[in-house]
Amino acid sequence: MSPSPARPESWQLAPLSAEFRHAATERDFLAHQLAMTQGQLRIALLFCSLFYLGFAVTDLARQGAGEHTGALLAARAAVVLCALGCLWLLRRYPSSIRVSRLAASAATSAGSAGFLLIAALRPDEFLLHAIGMSILVVVLYIYIPNRLLYALALALAATLGFVALAWLRAPLRGAELGTMATLLLLANVFCYVAARRYQRLWRDEYSARCVLRDQSIRDHLTGCYNRRHLHEQLLENELARAQRYKLSLTVVMCDLDHFKAVNDQHGHHGGDAVLVKFAELLRAMTREGVDGVVRYGGEEFLLVLPETDLRGGVLLAERLRATLAASAIPHQLALIRVTASFGVASADFASSANPAAHHGIIASADNLLYAAKKAGRNQVRALQLP
Ligand code: GH3
Ligand code: MG
Ligand code: MG
Repeated sequence: MSPSPARPESWQLAPLSAEFRHAATERDFLAHQLAMTQGQLRIALLFCSLFYLGFAVTDLARQGAGEHTGALLAARAAVVLCALGCLWLLRRYPSSIRVSRLAASAATSAGSAGFLLIAALRPDEFLLHAIGMSILVVVLYIYIPNRLLYALALALAATLGFVALAWLRAPLRGAELGTMATLLLLANVFCYVAARRYQRLWRDEYSARCVLRDQSIRDHLTGCYNRRHLHEQLLENELARAQRYKLSLTVVMCDLDHFKAVNDQHGHHGGDAVLVKFAELLRAMTREGVDGVVRYGGEEFLLVLPETDLRGGVLLAERLRATLAASAIPHQLALIRVTASFGVASADFASSANPAAHHGIIASADNLLYAAKKAGRNQVRALQLP
């Protein structure tokens, strides 16, 4: 079997926590998972409330009022109230990762504290409590969403507190106590291993989905966006944004001059090397995360420049033209020199009477590019759309 390829840095997982090492990736993942995480959490909070309520009722029915009845009821009621409060928080802030984390942490902490208090008040039933403690450990590892180390800390603290209580208050002999502590420790180990696998699986699925999506919107050779992404998302989004906030939008159509001759002279690989270098230049000289660089056709690229007026677009096109013309692209033993022609079209949505007309902005840039070619190539033609 061939070794699996190394994960790119942004998809690497930390070994203990099974979280993405890259903070921004982890944040995006949590946002992507939020609806599902909250769904699970809601079910857990409801079960927690019903569980504590149910035990309060059955205890009262079985044992009637006793020495600690008030305290036991108060502890159970506090846990139920906390769980219901957390449910309300989730409803009130459905899109907050921090609130869902807070709700999970508060409910699990209150549930653990309530459980320990009940165990302390009823020291004769510690072997039964141990079963409850095992269930609590499972719940802590499963339902603290996407924070494995936090779940580990809380579960271990609750387990140690429980063993300490058993040692101080329960009529258990040394061997029984030791066995109980060991079994609870084992429950922690197995739950941690299972929860870690679960966390890794979710993140593996997320990264595979992101890689596939990225491949579907990019051109394989140059890594630029493909034309499908331009028409399905990029252009519509930028036009809508420019329209909404009354901004300028400029597009630049670029085409390598006499590229067929490069292929004829240096072979297809030589042509590919030029395309890759030109794409690198386009990306290096535009704003990362703001401008869109699209491979529009074979040796034709389109730049989408939000919040850029005609002057800015022409300045960029001129700099690109001059830099490319002054470059020599190494391929095998040769140095390949190429030039490119540019068509720059700009629309100003602040002063535009008919914004819908600007859907033809790409066709305008294409016409300007054609004019630059006709005028002798290696030049820039520009137009402010009316
Ligand atoms: P002009 O200055 O008028 O733009 O001339 P040109 O030769 O650049 O334009 P033309 O449209 O005649 O030829 C474009 C060439 O680009 C033809 C095609 O084989 C080549 N081409 C398209 N895609 C690729 C590619 O991915 N790799 C390589 N090496 N060549 C490609
Ligand atoms: Mg060409
Ligand atoms: Mg062309």
